[in-house]
Amino acid sequence: MRAGPEQRLAHLDSCPALVLNADYQPLSYFPLSLWGWQETVKAIFLDRVATVSHYDREIRSPNSRFRLPSVVALKQYVPQSHFPPFTRFNVFLRDRFTCQYCGSRRRAEELTFDHVVPRSRGGITTWSNILTACTRCNLTKGSRLPRECAMTPLKTPRRPNSHELQRAGRSFPPNYLHESWRDFLYWDTELEP
Ligand SMILES: [Zn+2]
Repeated sequence: MRAGPEQRLAHLDSCPALVLNADYQPLSYFPLSLWGWQETVKAIFLDRVATVSHYDREIRSPNSRFRLPSVVALKQYVPQSHFPPFTRFNVFLRDRFTCQYCGSRRRAEELTFDHVVPRSRGGITTWSNILTACTRCNLTKGSRLPRECAMTPLKTPRRPNSHELQRAGRSFPPNYLHESWRDFLYWDTELEP
């Protein structure tokens, strides 16, 4: 049975292109920079990207046909920030999805953000005062300071640079992080100060 137009389009949606910067490094790692096929095709026509690799699939228009790109590289280099954004996902990644009090590695759903100096005691929401904690440790600690409850963070939290986050990302199996990232909008939201 032949696939109808809608099924064919749905199939194309599973063919994103990895977007590289002009130095052939991914534009971003977390989340991995991927474009949908329409955006990719548009960028090729606008001459903004070069095709590095493609899928076996072809797309056709009335006057042309070409293979769907799987990897594209920007023609113009986009400067990268040395410091990653302060997002939920990046905090977990910095801490390697590990509770910073008891040391257990958990899935994202089982982790929370803990203010080392609690908000009720004047603690603010910054890289150096937020860390990853399992629900249980977070509840146990409550609104106490680490020294009041003998719960010292395994590592003193601080702002990571992009290299440190990439290194943390490489300690996970391939695809693990991208799969744990289904709710992209939630995870990519910057934490409110
Ligand atoms: Zn814990």
